[in-house]
Amino acid sequence: MRLFIKRKEFVLILVFLAVFILAACSSKEVKPAAEGGKLRVAAAIFPAWDWTRNVLGSNPAGMELTLLVDNGVDLHSFQPSVDDILTISNADLFIYVGGESDQWVTDALKQANNPNLKILKMLDVIGDAAKTEETVEGMQTEESEDEDEAELDEHVWLSLRNAAVIIDAIAGEFSVMDPENAGTYRENASAYKQKLSALDEQYQKAVDAAEIKTLLFGDRFPFRYLVEDYDLSYFAAFSGCSAETEASFETISFLSRKCDELGLPVVLTIDGSDQKIAQTIIKNTASKGQSVLVLDSMQAVSAKDIREGVTYLSVMEKNLDVLKTALEVG
Ligand SMILES: [Zn+2]
Repeated sequence: MRLFIKRKEFVLILVFLAVFILAACSSKEVKPAAEGGKLRVAAAIFPAWDWTRNVLGSNPAGMELTLLVDNGVDLHSFQPSVDDILTISNADLFIYVGGESDQWVTDALKQANNPNLKILKMLDVIGDAAKTEETVEGMQTEESEDEDEAELDEHVWLSLRNAAVIIDAIAGEFSVMDPENAGTYRENASAYKQKLSALDEQYQKAVDAAEIKTLLFGDRFPFRYLVEDYDLSYFAAFSGCSAETEASFETISFLSRKCDELGLPVVLTIDGSDQKIAQTIIKNTASKGQSVLVLDSMQAVSAKDIREGVTYLSVMEKNLDVLKTALEVG
């Protein structure tokens, strides 16, 4: 683990060196903000990018919107490319989470050397709604985990209610950056928030009608904000940002026992799982009839997925269907 981080840091240094050299060699690469009247927005992760796209609507000011993490690699392993640093150098607004998996941002911002850059940090925007990472019964803890240092749970985008708050903040930023079109941004935001709240109601209705109120993950668990919105409980093999991939015998048998005890029909995984842990859990239950379903946490959405029409709302709609099966809704 330690070694891995050191290697990552080394790669970062290389990237920064490359940016420095590029910037020094061709001054036209680093443009002053808003050159040519175009406002540039960079979003670190897919959900923020998609929300921003909806707030911009038909793009009144000719705003340029870039998504940084779009290569389909889990965002916990993201390393910025030279292009990514340049995108931040040239941006007027940068939107990111501010959690465990984007520690690269601090260095990237330093390197981008862009004093006019406005920053929207999603964890700050949701304020008191931010939760600390939690370890529940049966969850495997990491050896490297510092017990007395409670980190904020970064997966804020998995709550439809958080999304609405962040979208308002994005619209607010645009209204300042481009006051002429402030009304349009507000209207776009409110139209999109109506879709979110309609979906939120459907989630609530499903949970109210559910036989079962517990989710079980044979995987990492980034869905704390979602389950707390609807008062669900959960069990999981690992916490949200865990780098563990192997579950211990204790973890597996605890989760298998919970499946049997609670009569759960589904063992969940997140996007990108090889499902081995989930299958092992099922193999060790008495009934063995559970199915494995994926609740998509949008941590590895790729440019190709986006081209094929994946949106934040489409993923959350699909997740609702999975939830209905897992909770045995009517
Ligand atoms: Zn994480």
